[in-house]
Amino acid sequence: MVTMETLVSLCKRRGFVFQSSEIYGGTGSCWDYGPLGVELKNKIKRVWWRDFVQQRSDMVGLDASILMHPTVWKASGHVDHFTDPMVDCLECHHRFRADQLDELDWVHYCPATKGNKFTIPAGEACTHCQSRRTLCPDCGKGQLTPPRQFNLMFKTFMGPVEEDAAVTYLRPETAQGIFVNFENVLQSMRRKLPFGIGQIGKAFRNEITPGNFIFRTREFEQMEIEYFVNPHDTVEGRPADEYWHDRWIEDCRAWFLRYGVEAEHLRLHEHDRAELAHYSKRTADLQYRFPIGWSELMGIANRTDFDLKQHAKWSGKALTYFDEERKEHVVPYVVEPSAGVDRALLAFLADAYREEEVRGEKRVVLRFHPELAPVSVAVLPLLKKRDDIVRTALALRDELSRHWTAVYDDTAAIGRLYRRQDEVGTPYCVTVDVQTVGGSDRGEVADGKVTIRDRDSMEQIRVEASRLVAVFGDLLSGKSWADVAAGVGRA
Ligand SMILES: [Zn+2]
Ligand SMILES: [Zn+2]
Repeated sequence: MVTMETLVSLCKRRGFVFQSSEIYGGTGSCWDYGPLGVELKNKIKRVWWRDFVQQRSDMVGLDASILMHPTVWKASGHVDHFTDPMVDCLECHHRFRADQLDELDWVHYCPATKGNKFTIPAGEACTHCQSRRTLCPDCGKGQLTPPRQFNLMFKTFMGPVEEDAAVTYLRPETAQGIFVNFENVLQSMRRKLPFGIGQIGKAFRNEITPGNFIFRTREFEQMEIEYFVNPHDTVEGRPADEYWHDRWIEDCRAWFLRYGVEAEHLRLHEHDRAELAHYSKRTADLQYRFPIGWSELMGIANRTDFDLKQHAKWSGKALTYFDEERKEHVVPYVVEPSAGVDRALLAFLADAYREEEVRGEKRVVLRFHPELAPVSVAVLPLLKKRDDIVRTALALRDELSRHWTAVYDDTAAIGRLYRRQDEVGTPYCVTVDVQTVGGSDRGEVADGKVTIRDRDSMEQIRVEASRLVAVFGDLLSGKSWADVAAGVGRA
């Protein structure tokens, strides 16, 4: 499996992800998506929205604001309970999560070796004096304060006066925006249970110890669904909420597989009693084998009627659904598939990364699913000194860019250009050559054809330039290279 260092370096070098505010020394755990990163991220969001919101008749979308009424966070429990235990070092003033101290390597000045400095692996004792860590793991000198609860919400002020009455928060999750709009969506869209509301948007958590590149950041983007079901209904002999919970787990897993994640890199982790939030009936995480090890990719929780009941209590509004059949008002149960865009991007990136050997040379290739690849097609001129070839290539790029992300590149020889596109995961390259344009003065006959090269097999086919849009229509909507190649004949 690829290391995180390799991914971070590739991401910077090729314009996927940059450290935020890098020229000022960077901002802790904030990252900026570069020209290729933003394309990849947008495509992940676009296919998620298409597959889970637009194509399903039981789903609608929403885009709630980031700043909400502060009481939302009282009702949701975030003001009182969204905390981590934090300790401070009295010497270096570094802060740590009290419950994660033993997961850090620690600095030790060993009394058994005249105070020599060692860095000891997380959770282990000193091999010289057998002592265990009691002081600050970073400086090895400072006492740590007793743990105190630290709220992870970013606080800010609404309006021009910085007073307590004006305090509000940057949302720590998009979910609450859906719950507070439950009644609005129900009435305006005349929905019947079960139905779901999907939303993509930024969320903010003031993590004490973020890290591992874009895996855990203080500002991140979520793709969340709240799926409302009638708890009195049964489906296939089972309570509706339990049935839909399983369905959503399967649908989410299938989605990651569909866009290229290897089945053996995904597994399900059921929360046991100790991990389970008090309102949750069952929560299952989809875990991915990240370069840092198996970690949560997304969670699918059965939140019961907790959220709607809490908001009904604090707002004084009835957040219920009228069950026509039973002639009664019910508070729906909620199944919540919640995924992070940044984490999904990291998983797709890690899974796509390959180092191959081609004719004795190393080839780095990102085998992105064609629908996710930041660049769908690169158009390359075989000779950049020939005006007619360059003109034709530029015109083809313009035409293709009306449908897909297409780039033109003439800054190197063709072999080098192919490798560069491989390294950013471009599934197809189009090459314009002498035969494409011809030249009567040189006695060259034009055939009007261009070469398409497939990233994964490195095979090439030759097709009429006028048919490119149709051919890519097939290739970029799921038709296999082998089928398309069989139709046009290999070069
Ligand atoms: Zn310290
Ligand atoms: Zn020691």
